[in-house]
Amino acid sequence: MKIICIGRNYADHAAELGHERPAEPLFFMKPKSAVLHPDHPFVIPEWTDECHYEVELVVRIERVACWVAPEFAHRCYHEVGLGIDFTARDVQRRLKAAGHPWEKAKSFDGSAVLSWAWTPLKDLGGNIQNLAFELERNGEVVQSGNTRDMLFTVDQLIAHVSQYCTLKTGDLIYTGTPAGVGPVAPGDQLTGRLCGRDQFTVNVM
Ligand code: ZN
Repeated sequence: MKIICIGRNYADHAAELGHERPAEPLFFMKPKSAVLHPDHPFVIPEWTDECHYEVELVVRIERVACWVAPEFAHRCYHEVGLGIDFTARDVQRRLKAAGHPWEKAKSFDGSAVLSWAWTPLKDLGGNIQNLAFELERNGEVVQSGNTRDMLFTVDQLIAHVSQYCTLKTGDLIYTGTPAGVGPVAPGDQLTGRLCGRDQFTVNVM
């Protein structure tokens, strides 16, 4: 199983980090060991002073896909969830400035939060490009997005990624975050909601 994460897929978030719209999808990976156990708290690593939440729609791949055309990409999934792509922003900034890969800032243990369960897309209205989602931090909504605002659709992302990496059953795609990312602190509680349904609650330590 591999976890593919898309960067800068919402114009408002790309702008808040000072980036241009990408000309093609940008992706990186997290290892399986990054997945946070649903019963465990998220522990901020001691080597970062600025750990950010990024709430994202997550798509679960259900078949082998290699060079899949966008018009057939919908056959690769039927369930979705929500996740947090935790990011050590200070570390990412340093690595980027040095021209190095960002892996350390993105792939660490616990950095991939997932929904308690997958939800069939048809139970959410059936259109993957019209799903509302939000992240609450200590009872206040800090990120609120809709998949219709993606720069590249889920099907375009699958088509693009599958030109480089064969997608396999169980692979996950984190599809990018909308604006509103920010730091977490010990004692925070984060709750994710997809189409009004609670997906996860994470306690930060
Ligand atoms: Zn992200």
